[in-house]
Amino acid sequence: MAVDVEVLQALIDEKLTPLVKKIDEEAYYAEDFLVALGRAGFFHSSQKDEHKILLDELTIVQETAKVCMTTAFCLWCHLAALTYIRKTKNKQLRAEILPLLESGELLGATGLSNPMKFYADLEKLHLSAERVNGGYLVNGILPAVSNLADNHWFGAVAYNGEKEVMLFVNTDNPQITLKEKIHFLGVNGSATYTCKFDNVFVTDDYVVAQDASGFVDMIRPTFVLYQIPLGFGVIESSIIGIEKVKAKQNGCNEYLQIQADELAQKLQQLEDSLETLVQSDETDLQAICQLRLQTVYATLAAVQANMLHNGSAGYIVGSAPSRKLREAYFFANLTPTVRQLEKMTKVLKVAE
Ligand SMILES: Cc1cc2nc3c(=O)[nH]c(=O)nc-3n(C[C@H](O)[C@H](O)[C@H](O)COP(=O)(O)OP(=O)(O)OC[C@H]3O[C@@H](n4cnc5c(N)ncnc54)[C@H](O)[C@@H]3O)c2cc1C
Repeated sequence: MAVDVEVLQALIDEKLTPLVKKIDEEAYYAEDFLVALGRAGFFHSSQKDEHKILLDELTIVQETAKVCMTTAFCLWCHLAALTYIRKTKNKQLRAEILPLLESGELLGATGLSNPMKFYADLEKLHLSAERVNGGYLVNGILPAVSNLADNHWFGAVAYNGEKEVMLFVNTDNPQITLKEKIHFLGVNGSATYTCKFDNVFVTDDYVVAQDASGFVDMIRPTFVLYQIPLGFGVIESSIIGIEKVKAKQNGCNEYLQIQADELAQKLQQLEDSLETLVQSDETDLQAICQLRLQTVYATLAAVQANMLHNGSAGYIVGSAPSRKLREAYFFANLTPTVRQLEKMTKVLKVAE
């Protein structure tokens, strides 16, 4: 059975739509919505194959992003954390945490932007891990980790002097200092914090992978795939925004260069490509990054068109088109950022 779209829509209508302005303007974190998704069973993976899990969860991200990309991004953070725990070889960690993440009892996040950039040869690794009896002592700073609050878990990668290890840490650890970041143009409701690690002891029970490099290679396609519907949701809602103001100034909008039907065609094409990628058994990172990159540009085009069709009403602080515009620029700057994607798609292509 596909995702129960009616139940999903009811949850969105009840727990997300009324809060969208607060999320955007007051940095409100829609944690209850994420918990409610979990309680309603939207994260359960048992009795589903991998394609089905992916397709269902991609739908949930898209439907959420249609209303609020900030919260859909938080949802993506949770799904990234879920992916780490679903794929870890650490059976004990999986047995302990997975049921709680899938039922929404616990929420998860990801500090993997820096390692993703590290593996793409863009920057140094920010965290170090010293081997001690029974685990690691972790030090360093992650500049931004989203979807965090009390008792939230997140994945992080640290260098142990020989190689990188991937760990799962909890925000309640007193050696981790969180500093809230709410000075962004948009997505301030994403519960984003700087995370300072000061001799954080992580026992072996919470090691996601002793070989983070190989593990990141394995999860990277899913990590990027889950981001794509963030853009789809924004494009879809921009199309609706354009349709809404069709009759403005005696239909003058029809002279604008980009129209809703063109955006809808593009969206359909991107959605078909995503479905084909998910259904194919190969994990073709090159194709996934291409699609993610195309989605960034299509999303930016859609939010810009929505602004133009809405005229000065869209230029008012807090208007829906302006919110979507600001959210879309974050989508372009979420790791892998648009410039990293440009590099990855070109370098991977050359390497083939
Ligand atoms: C709202 C928001 C939420 C984010 N959430 C997450 C998340 O959940 N998990 C995650 O891993 N990453 C997160 N990031 C990071 C994001 O994925 C990108 O890596 C980030 O936007 C930087 O992209 P860039 O390539 O433009 O790097 P640049 O802006 O050029 O930055 C390069 C590097 O400089 C450092 N840096 C950048 N800004 C700061 C700063 N303010 N203070 C200290 N160092 C800094 C970081 O090492 C960064 O990767 C978030 C970023 C933002 C803006």
